[in-house]
Amino acid sequence: MREVLIIGSGIAGMACAIRCAELGMHVTLASPYPSERAQSVMAAGGINAVTADCEPGDSVACHIADTLRGGADLAGEQAVAGLCAHAGEILQYLEQIGTVFSVDAAGRPMRRAFGGQSHKRTHYCGAGTGKLMVSALVMEVRRWEAAGRVQRRLRCTFHSALLRDGVCRGALLFDEATRSLEPVCADATVIATGGQNGLFGKTTGSALCDGYAAGMLFLQGAELKNLEFIQYHPTTLETAQKRMLISEAVRGEGGRLFYLENGERVYFLEDKYGPGGNLMTRDVVSREMEATGRDVFLDVSFLDAGVIDARLPEVRDLCLKYRGIDIRREPIPVAPSVHFFMGGLAVGLNHETGLRNCFAAGECASIYHGANRLGGNSLLGAMYGARVAAEAIAGRAFPEDRPDFSKQVEARRAALEEKLASQSPFPAMYIRDMLAVTMREKLGIVRDEAGLRQGIADVDYDIAVAEQIKYDSSVSPYFNYSLTGILAAARATLSCALARRESRGAHYRCDFPERDEAQRFASVVAYEGGAYRVRLDREHAYES
Ligand SMILES: Cc1cc2nc3c(=O)[nH]c(=O)nc-3n(C[C@H](O)[C@H](O)[C@H](O)COP(=O)(O)OP(=O)(O)OC[C@H]3O[C@@H](n4cnc5c(N)ncnc54)[C@H](O)[C@@H]3O)c2cc1C
Repeated sequence: MREVLIIGSGIAGMACAIRCAELGMHVTLASPYPSERAQSVMAAGGINAVTADCEPGDSVACHIADTLRGGADLAGEQAVAGLCAHAGEILQYLEQIGTVFSVDAAGRPMRRAFGGQSHKRTHYCGAGTGKLMVSALVMEVRRWEAAGRVQRRLRCTFHSALLRDGVCRGALLFDEATRSLEPVCADATVIATGGQNGLFGKTTGSALCDGYAAGMLFLQGAELKNLEFIQYHPTTLETAQKRMLISEAVRGEGGRLFYLENGERVYFLEDKYGPGGNLMTRDVVSREMEATGRDVFLDVSFLDAGVIDARLPEVRDLCLKYRGIDIRREPIPVAPSVHFFMGGLAVGLNHETGLRNCFAAGECASIYHGANRLGGNSLLGAMYGARVAAEAIAGRAFPEDRPDFSKQVEARRAALEEKLASQSPFPAMYIRDMLAVTMREKLGIVRDEAGLRQGIADVDYDIAVAEQIKYDSSVSPYFNYSLTGILAAARATLSCALARRESRGAHYRCDFPERDEAQRFASVVAYEGGAYRVRLDREHAYES
């Protein structure tokens, strides 16, 4: 039976595992934690789909046009057309397996519009769309597990791909239980490890998604794409563990952003853009907040308490629980934070990376969102891309031989054990923390050449140090060996941002503030002989 190894068990990993099982394959689904702890559970806003009973005037063509425009004309038209055309069918499937979407009193689907959408087409499950989707998919995965088609492996992290003549034949996993590296050979390997939040320290997302797998595969020959496009969400609240997302719904209900000057409130967005100023797009609001150079607050206390309780209960509870702030009486201190990664592993229409038989799906793959993502399109992209990858694998002929990787495996085990053998005076976690500072400062909302060059110099220094240090035995071996891939992903991101000498979508360069149509291509970065080479690539911009 065809063997598929899937790394990461969020929505993309599970959707791919289920489709592979349905198509008659056997799947190993590996992740460090259960799916219920994947970032996917945090998705609250909803998933986009044009259905038969859609809002009057809406259509798949409108969804495609909104997605391409939202992505600042950088997403591939063919890929986006496939995504939007299959959205209705994906929604139906999710309902079939038990995802309960919100309906009105008459039983009609409830929908909302996120920024950049011409119609209301975001379907949601109260405030728990991600949670309900994950629960339904987990039940399906368990069904296939009981049928012997899926084997879930927990406490396993990706270490490196097993390659023979440029073809991926599986991967080495680090098993936390045995604290050793274990080869898992497979006909096809699917990477579904989510975004690169960990590079930036605290974000709205999960620190478990750290970009390591993408960075390691890059060092092994895969290309990365559009890494400079990082979506900042303007309204997030600082807490001990992460930055909590304060939903756009707050501004949708009339919430006003202000800062204080001599004790007076300045409603800077309304002053500049008029009454609709608070609802400008995420990148504009984030930039304007940053430009104030002040602490910014979001206020809804002027709304009737009943309205807040009825329409914003999750935000009310979140602020009270994590910061003791009662939004019915006081404003919320907010700041922009890293939220979503449009860039990642470069994949073709069938979701295959540059390494043959190695696929990628979900937030770790760069294909549908161009230079900026529309809210509600990433859950859709994770579901759709996962199914596309599974179908591509089912339709492919694979080599029948089983190459012997024992020498490679032994060499990598020995290298890891040697490093683990002694305690480092210079902990790996310190390098991770320093990296996060560099990334936040140099790849912030506004970038420039001098900052990016300094960022590259800093990361090059970190890379040199990381090569020399012994491992820190006070943390999991993963936090040590993952430094190599994480630093490569960070360095590649800075290289892409430096190469794009224009402002487009989520990438804003104050030294090149205008959009330049001559650069309307994806940035594709490759690791060649120790160098990070970036090209602005027509093929990836239009065909992927
Ligand atoms: C607060 C928040 C709200 C959001 N709301 C929405 C929304 O309303 N609508 C929408 O469309 N999108 C939303 N998003 C984005 C969306 O949730 C994600 O893009 C999507 O869930 C990603 O799914 P995934 O399966 O690719 O990754 P994830 O769900 O992040 O899963 C990644 C998996 O890979 C595993 N993993 C990571 N690294 C390794 C490794 N080295 N080895 C092995 N396994 C590894 C993880 O443990 C996990 O199992 C939101 C994001 C956030 C942060």
